[in-house]
Amino acid sequence: MYDIDKIRADFPILERTVYNRPLVYLDNGATTQKPRCVVEAMTEEYYSVNANVHRGVHFLSQKATELHEASRETVRSFINARSINEIVFTRGTTESINLLASCFGDAFMNEGDEVIVSVMEHHSNIVPWQLLAERKGIKLRVIPMTDSGTLMLDEYEKLFNERTRIVSVAHVSNVLGTVNPIKEMVRVAHAHGVPVLVDGAQSTPHFAVDMQLLDCDFFAFSAHKIYGPTGVGVLYGKEEWLDKLPPYQGGGEMIKNVSFEKTTFNELPYKFEAGTPDYIGTHALAVALDYVNKIGMDQIYSHERELTSYAMQQMQQIDGMRIFGTATDKDAVISFLVGNIHHLDMGTLLDRLGIAVRTGHHCAEPLMNRLGIEGTVRASFALYNTKEEVDTLVAGIKRVASMF
Ligand code: PMP
Repeated sequence: MYDIDKIRADFPILERTVYNRPLVYLDNGATTQKPRCVVEAMTEEYYSVNANVHRGVHFLSQKATELHEASRETVRSFINARSINEIVFTRGTTESINLLASCFGDAFMNEGDEVIVSVMEHHSNIVPWQLLAERKGIKLRVIPMTDSGTLMLDEYEKLFNERTRIVSVAHVSNVLGTVNPIKEMVRVAHAHGVPVLVDGAQSTPHFAVDMQLLDCDFFAFSAHKIYGPTGVGVLYGKEEWLDKLPPYQGGGEMIKNVSFEKTTFNELPYKFEAGTPDYIGTHALAVALDYVNKIGMDQIYSHERELTSYAMQQMQQIDGMRIFGTATDKDAVISFLVGNIHHLDMGTLLDRLGIAVRTGHHCAEPLMNRLGIEGTVRASFALYNTKEEVDTLVAGIKRVASMF
């Protein structure tokens, strides 16, 4: 039994109004709202535990370290990694991908080597590779998609050659909602001896992910998109790969011994965690993961899928509606345009009705080029959204459309 009223009561912000209307928050792809337990865990830790982790012999430092390291175990279990050594805390998906592009590029890529990405990537899975391209002369190869927003797997296979060093793809598109067949894509890459990085920013909040099942080599996600705090993220990496990579940033925590003659680096995962980590944030992430686990990722998945297909049905009946992304396996994201109403006008007018949606290119300009548009309006759902909110959205779109 999915008790939506009880769930909504956990999120104080959902009770507020904007412009004297009840808030309808449909910008979850950008960031999710936080349940009371997450915010309270942060306050509580600052009030009663706060001390820098790892370095202290004193009581508080040890308590803070325990919470921080217990969070690593919570993350490990959530994504079913083999070992806590495979869980690197970062600032978010963006930093996780930059870390990997930088370290993997330094260790394994030379001029003329290639990385395969897809046409539907977020800028954060394009630009780090382009920076590497500038630094080292590597090349980007791009997996094309069909008009429905499905990656062309036969074209994907053709992109592999003796210079392919890594594949880096989104698990779920933040614009189209397409769920890419990662397991199959990993199988193909591995058959060519190539590792795979998965951008899980938009998958982790919506369905259970399993590192051992997907068999990807690296996986990145952000806490703030899964009801956790901003400024924290995770890079998962198979231990045998992380062992082979050089450190990312230098500083405290990531070293074993330092002298001016020679510095040795700490073991995994600390080798990649220079400086004081956001230990309050990592604990809050663990609280968020416990929260979604308590509801159940499968229940969240069913609820959101039902909501998405209901929204698709209702929205498709609106005159002039164009929906971008109609793949068979589509997650809780709907990008659309109505007639020739500019996405910014639609978004601004919906906002006046209390409906928060995102407009623009959604940090996926190459995808916008592929679709031949400048931007879309995007409604993205979370575990607390309701059918009534979808009805409000649909009525809002119709009302805005009637004004043009
Ligand atoms: N990848 C995808 C698919 C995303 O949707 C986002 C966030 N919009 C990111 C990466 C970047 O995440 P963050 O800003 O949390 O680093």
